[in-house]
Amino acid sequence: MRKPMVAGNWKMNGKSADNAALLEAVRGLGDECANVTVAVCPPFVYVPQARQALEGSGVAVGGQDCSDNDSGAFTGEVAAPMLADVGCEYVILGHSERRTLFGESDTQVAAKYRAAQRAGLKPILCVGETLEEREQDVTEEVVGRQLDAVIDAAGVASLEGAVIAYEPVWAIGTGRTATPEQAQTVHRFIRERVAAHDAGVAEGLVLLYGGSVKPDNAGELFGCDDIDGGLIGGASLKADAFGDICRAAERSRD
Ligand code: PEP
Repeated sequence: MRKPMVAGNWKMNGKSADNAALLEAVRGLGDECANVTVAVCPPFVYVPQARQALEGSGVAVGGQDCSDNDSGAFTGEVAAPMLADVGCEYVILGHSERRTLFGESDTQVAAKYRAAQRAGLKPILCVGETLEEREQDVTEEVVGRQLDAVIDAAGVASLEGAVIAYEPVWAIGTGRTATPEQAQTVHRFIRERVAAHDAGVAEGLVLLYGGSVKPDNAGELFGCDDIDGGLIGGASLKADAFGDICRAAERSRD
């Protein structure tokens, strides 16, 4: 049985004082939702603050991106070994904001995936189609291509116990959520695509849904067979909402 996961993507939000209050509330979720992997991914500079506030709580910390290089003359970049060094366990890679606003290609995301694994981090690999692509009925083609880039570069074994977040771009920060049926269909597609290479690896994949997840839609989404939790943006900045989403994940395996 896969362990559900809820990860908060804080994006470029928060300052030390607000973070402290939020982290204090999130800390309690480690015990309260012991059957869920709970993680928060703050901006890089606040990783040490999060690590310290969550010490011993069972709540993990992740970065929001990393370089595909391990060190060197890459001004402004943060390397995967640095994230590991300051206590990150996870790193979000290929988020649609990185792909669209910063032009990250499938190949670059795959190189970052390899760099993260070299450093002992667990990547949370984001995939998902734009509204235009959904309307053109090429969702599976797009998600398949994003997934294949990693399989081609790193091999299917690199997906052993991996976390993949399906995030339809049209549902991120828009208040528009994929229906549980739409999300489940793509999650099943991802699992089957990996199963074509290795059924055991496919079965162990932790598949998160992301895109306007809120306390009132989390239960239904997490109740779907191939949805193992969520990657949460806006609602992860509100302690009550994030807590309710984690509790929905805890109940999803009852
Ligand atoms: C995200 O950015 O990963 C995300 C899912 O955002 P939101 O929950 O705000 O749609």
